[in-house]
Amino acid sequence: MTGFDAVAARLDAEDPLARFRDRFLPSPGVVAYLDGNSLGRPPIVTAERLDRFVREQWAGRLIRGWGESWMGWPEEVGDRVAAAALGAAPGQTVVADSTTVLLYKLARAAVDHQYPARREIVLCSDDFPTDRYVVEGIAAERGARLVWVETDPAAGITPAQVAAVVGPETALVLLSHVAYRSGWVADAEAITALVHDAGALVLWDLSHSVGSVELELDAWGVDLAVGCTYKYLNGGPGSPAFAYVRRGLHDRLRQPIQGWMGRRDPFEMGPGYTPAAGVRGIVSGTPPILATVPLLAGLDMLSEAGIGAVRTKSRALTAFALDLVDAWLPDVEVVSPRDPDRRGGHLTIRRAGFREVLDALWDAGVLPDYREPDGIRIGLAPLSTGFTEVHDGLSVLRELLVSRMAG
Ligand SMILES: *Cc1c(COP(=O)(O)O)cnc(C)c1O
Repeated sequence: MTGFDAVAARLDAEDPLARFRDRFLPSPGVVAYLDGNSLGRPPIVTAERLDRFVREQWAGRLIRGWGESWMGWPEEVGDRVAAAALGAAPGQTVVADSTTVLLYKLARAAVDHQYPARREIVLCSDDFPTDRYVVEGIAAERGARLVWVETDPAAGITPAQVAAVVGPETALVLLSHVAYRSGWVADAEAITALVHDAGALVLWDLSHSVGSVELELDAWGVDLAVGCTYKYLNGGPGSPAFAYVRRGLHDRLRQPIQGWMGRRDPFEMGPGYTPAAGVRGIVSGTPPILATVPLLAGLDMLSEAGIGAVRTKSRALTAFALDLVDAWLPDVEVVSPRDPDRRGGHLTIRRAGFREVLDALWDAGVLPDYREPDGIRIGLAPLSTGFTEVHDGLSVLRELLVSRMAG
């Protein structure tokens, strides 16, 4: 015994959010789920809500459901995301599409707005692939120039790095608030202010932040933001994304995918396109209603727990995981911030040969993520993860590494 099992038991006993762990469906054979930041686990009520929705709403209301309720879901559910997780007033958030598609719409709208006076887009060379690809495509469409910032792989973007590259040519700065590899939490408030001082717009990707760290989009003056709902919001595989557009920009930005559902009066079906007022203009096609149902359960849970308590537990979970890594895996490199204020909900640890233990870990029911090069990413979703689970998962990893070195 190492004594850490007793620590884990005590942390679980003292955890004010412990009751939420029983509200998720069991996953047979899983000893430790360390990837809730890639795909959140399903709440029990989600299965019931989906079943009820199909029977009562889809079957019961049929086409009447659109007029009675579903048509307004993009903004209504967007407002719920904003209230539970974004620190944003109503009327600025929609739920729609995928994160990739919303990134394209918002980034393209921002670049178009600044064109031709400003033609540079700032982004990080280590940002999530889809973000880079989308912006590369926009640059090619618009003849914009990309300004790549190289970040420390064990940390992430800093205000000083942003200050060094923004200027009179900058149209847009696209950044991830929590870095998908290191878990670095960027100083969004300071960076947003720097970008504004340069006369540019900022677009934050919140995919690894939402439901995990506290956000104050309105107070920070953020222009634009997007994020996933299938990670910490437990929306389920492929659940729709959300987009936030600061109120002051609603009449000034025009997104490029002009569809009937974002038109002023979609059922007029008349000639020409005039965007709907407000954030509704971000919507393009028919809202993915069925895929949004699980998100409602995830948001209920997050609202009940409160993002402040979630963040407190998240810090404790990652701190405990770091203690275990330091004690048990001395030859592993921690490529995540040790400062809890700069550390989001996940950690990446690196060691040559990690790729080879991954299959054995999964076979043993321990499910982390793998990120090239040689990185095991440990995502600790606060509502569904316990301290004993973290202990058990890392203890399996330790045993595998020891037996490999012996063999
Ligand atoms: C998970 C993630 C995405 C995913 O985009 P999809 O369109 O849902 O595939 C995008 N950006 C970041 C930073 C992510 O972490």
